[in-house]
Amino acid sequence: MQTNKIWLLAPRMGGNEQKYIQEAFDSNWIAPLGPNLDYFEHDLETYLGSHHVAVLNSGTAAIHLGLILLGVQAGDVVICQSMTFSASANPILYLGATPVFIDSESETWNLCPIALEEAIIDSISKGVRPKVIIAVHLYGTPYKIEAIRAVANKYAIPILEDSAEALGSSYKGQKCGTFGDVAVFSFNGSKIITTSGGGAIITNSAALKERAVFLATQAKDDAPHYQHSEIGYNYRMSTICAGIGRGQMEVLGQHIGLKRAMHDFYAELFKDIKGVAVFEVPNTNYEANYWLSTILIHPKETNGITREIVRLALEEENIESRPLWKPMHLQPVFCNYPYYGGSIAATLFDNGLCLPSGCNLTKADCDRIKNVILKLFRKRK
Ligand SMILES: *Cc1c(COP(=O)(O)O)cnc(C)c1O
Repeated sequence: MQTNKIWLLAPRMGGNEQKYIQEAFDSNWIAPLGPNLDYFEHDLETYLGSHHVAVLNSGTAAIHLGLILLGVQAGDVVICQSMTFSASANPILYLGATPVFIDSESETWNLCPIALEEAIIDSISKGVRPKVIIAVHLYGTPYKIEAIRAVANKYAIPILEDSAEALGSSYKGQKCGTFGDVAVFSFNGSKIITTSGGGAIITNSAALKERAVFLATQAKDDAPHYQHSEIGYNYRMSTICAGIGRGQMEVLGQHIGLKRAMHDFYAELFKDIKGVAVFEVPNTNYEANYWLSTILIHPKETNGITREIVRLALEEENIESRPLWKPMHLQPVFCNYPYYGGSIAATLFDNGLCLPSGCNLTKADCDRIKNVILKLFRKRK
């Protein structure tokens, strides 16, 4: 039987994206400058409330500029959540700084405040105050906002909030992207809204936004000729991509609803399956966008069914699933940098699986996923 592939994630267009792209063509604003950029930034600023947003050509670029805005230079120490996508950590190395990786805690799977403080104390005892803390809202679940902020403030270290996966999530009613000293979003093809490729840097002052745009557009001094007093970057978003972003902002709420429906589908599917837990937020303070639905498998309770067995059973039926992010301290490229904590992130990686969570999955797709799972766990419903 030939069946279509069910992807882990796929973009979903709202309908007006092409209209806004057409506007860029009609007005000949085919550049990283023009009305679509202003509108898209305005939409994001309105959504967040009182913050300032500069849209860029990737989330990675936003993290790179964020570290620069927070003063990171060669030789500095930057603390980073170990369990994340490599794009959280790579810009530390772009700047010649040294990453120090931190374990997760088991409730949100994000930065462990205890291991974080240990790392800071240790670094300070060696005469180096870490320059920035990179905290990530993994899979759209807010990190422990208060505990992390308390540690950061105690040692006067700013937070770069990697909210690449968490547009639309909130904690105690406050939106993700507004907690850090600087924050970032990603609009990559797999994220909750996409501009095909893109990102944003979020700051709490107009001056900082202006500085981000200045650096992102080659750091041109105010002169009739090309004059530069600083090293710049070519990181601004194109108006074509910003047009897609405008259309996507109109359906962000819809996407969050569809993601939540996928999460509810999995919660129901695994409800009676022993040894498999669908990830749930710790309490009602946390509102996740459920960008990706994930499960943890405890093989001792599943008669030896591991996450790899589940993954392969799905693959057999042309359904994509993926292990959770492999922690940075276990990556060949990063394994020689310092690491603080225990084995929580490593254990999550061993036992966790991301399940198809696209906004355009159909009832038939869900049935196919359900059949594989029920057959594998020999369940009848
Ligand atoms: C996607 C992602 C990024 C990078 O964003 P790009 O737009 O792909 O460069 C950074 N951090 C995390 C946690 C991500 O998931």
